[in-house]
Amino acid sequence: MAEPASRLCARFSEEPVSQRISIIGAGIAGIACAYEFARRGCAVTIVEKRAAAGRGCSWHAGGMLAPWCECESAEPIIGELGRESLAFWRDHFADTVSNGTLVVAPRRDLPDLQRFARRTQAHIWLDKDALGRLEPALSGRFGQGLFFDGEAHLDPRAALSALVSRLNVDFGVSIHFGGEPAPADWTLDCRGLDARMDLQDLRGVKGEMLMVRSPEVEFSRPIRLLHPRIPVYIVPRGGGVYMIGATMIENADGGGVTVRSALELLNAAYTLHPGFAEAEIIETGSGLRPAFPDNLPRLRPRGRTLHVNGFYRHGFLLAPAMARRAADFLLEGKEYPEVMD
Ligand SMILES: Cc1cc2nc3c(=O)[nH]c(=O)nc-3n(C[C@H](O)[C@H](O)[C@H](O)COP(=O)(O)OP(=O)(O)OC[C@H]3O[C@@H](n4cnc5c(N)ncnc54)[C@H](O)[C@@H]3O)c2cc1C
Repeated sequence: MAEPASRLCARFSEEPVSQRISIIGAGIAGIACAYEFARRGCAVTIVEKRAAAGRGCSWHAGGMLAPWCECESAEPIIGELGRESLAFWRDHFADTVSNGTLVVAPRRDLPDLQRFARRTQAHIWLDKDALGRLEPALSGRFGQGLFFDGEAHLDPRAALSALVSRLNVDFGVSIHFGGEPAPADWTLDCRGLDARMDLQDLRGVKGEMLMVRSPEVEFSRPIRLLHPRIPVYIVPRGGGVYMIGATMIENADGGGVTVRSALELLNAAYTLHPGFAEAEIIETGSGLRPAFPDNLPRLRPRGRTLHVNGFYRHGFLLAPAMARRAADFLLEGKEYPEVMD
């Protein structure tokens, strides 16, 4: 039975705060929490059931840090948490690329681009020439585009591994692969979708992605193509490598990338730039995004365990801000009703 947050907080004023934190799960939620608690002086331990960190859903993320674009369909709180996390990534991961996001649509889908503009903020309209100057590989291909110059992107695997190594070097925290969580004063449950036996309103939203190597195409920022079925995005990873994502399939149980999804993702990439026809497919993959019914993240206390979950399609965009709230809650008794039940 969940203990109400107010009762937990009442205890903070009576008891000295305990500093031993045990984290279950080394995805972006767990690693961001470990980093935040370690920075605040806690003795942190992490267990991960897989053989390496970040091999769950986090492995497949695009790495877009797009708090304004995401608010086209997400609640304003995602934008707020996202902007806070963006600042964290810029400060703590030097390879964060701050080149903004470009959104385009084929001429027939111009009304979709206009709708996207109405639902979002912090963008400017680009005409054909300005678009070509910003992203020369798209020169002459689209009549208009929306540019969100405050956004950024990163390589999620590199970012996660950088945090893991900072944890180790700066705070002496290493990950224990396999085994049981260490005894602690507080446990942070960051198991992603694997926590669904305990969080019964958690569901999996399957996301499929492809990685291609395409020396012929040169983009310097994530490009979103508004598309009637899959709103596709392409994120440059450097060296001619691009991540193409992502499908959104409700209540999925897993499985690999289907032929239908691969065809749709590749078709959309080809619509964006015909140079992708010659690209080499170097990886296909899919992950199950952990999501609550409203697609918002949660800190959910249960006794001496705090569940940090429901990051949906925003793990890298939200994790640093959610980790800060988790630490504020457990160490200082602050409450954040917008992300707590
Ligand atoms: C195709 C795709 C594209 C995406 N693109 C983006 C994007 O561009 N930007 C963005 O911000 N987000 C994106 N996301 C979303 C993001 O990947 C997720 O929100 C995020 O990975 C969720 O992180 P998590 O740590 O909660 O879960 P996970 O990454 O799944 O981590 C959970 C960890 O817990 C471990 N675990 C489970 N059970 C146990 C146990 N009993 N003991 C020990 N360890 C355990 C698992 O092995 C795993 O390592 C994307 C997702 C997908 C699928």
